[in-house]
Amino acid sequence: MRDEILTYWEMCAREKGSLQRGMYYREPPAVSVVLMSRRPGAPYDDSLSADGTELVYEGHDAKRKPGGDPKSEDQPWSLPSGELSENGKFARAAQEAVGQQPLVRAYEKLRPGIWSDRGLFHLVRHEYTTAGARKVFKFFMRLSDLPDMATAREDVNEFRRVIPSWVKQVVYKRDKGHCVICSAADHLHFDHELPYSKGGAGMSPDNVRILCARHNLEKGARIE
Ligand SMILES: [Zn+2]
Repeated sequence: MRDEILTYWEMCAREKGSLQRGMYYREPPAVSVVLMSRRPGAPYDDSLSADGTELVYEGHDAKRKPGGDPKSEDQPWSLPSGELSENGKFARAAQEAVGQQPLVRAYEKLRPGIWSDRGLFHLVRHEYTTAGARKVFKFFMRLSDLPDMATAREDVNEFRRVIPSWVKQVVYKRDKGHCVICSAADHLHFDHELPYSKGGAGMSPDNVRILCARHNLEKGARIE
């Protein structure tokens, strides 16, 4: 569900595995996964448009070798074993997609151990492009219009509304990662104090807060 706050372990539980890398290719109809970060000092150059619909995701570096610097090497198409790397699998899937483009779920790191679900994207195309003295992968993805199983029950306007990452980071810190009503620390959501449909805007920390699932639901019932 977009704007849901997940601990690392909640995210792993949802994806049914321990997520140790940035990219997981899964053969369609399964949904692939990417983990992104735009925090200061993030190791990769990922970007997301202000409206949250256009994601440009950077591929992964080569595995570190003794004495080597992965940031000075071309990002790899294949592994030393000769199998495709995750870069290679995503690139091949983007090239070979006939009809529907492969689906990818993107999670964004807000702070250590804390993630936000950015939604379900279509993998549209890739580039293998020069960045400084090496080549990197760029994967271009577009937010899907398909009903996201986790978001299907949400109002379309609510679904389309995006809380910027900087607001999420400020609010998470201010609310100390707990429901502001009951101090629960799991099943948390970023909540707009005034729903979009009633004229609320989500662009400032002042009208965004953290609620647990229970208080989020209770509030929805009261206002609607
Ligand atoms: Zn609560």
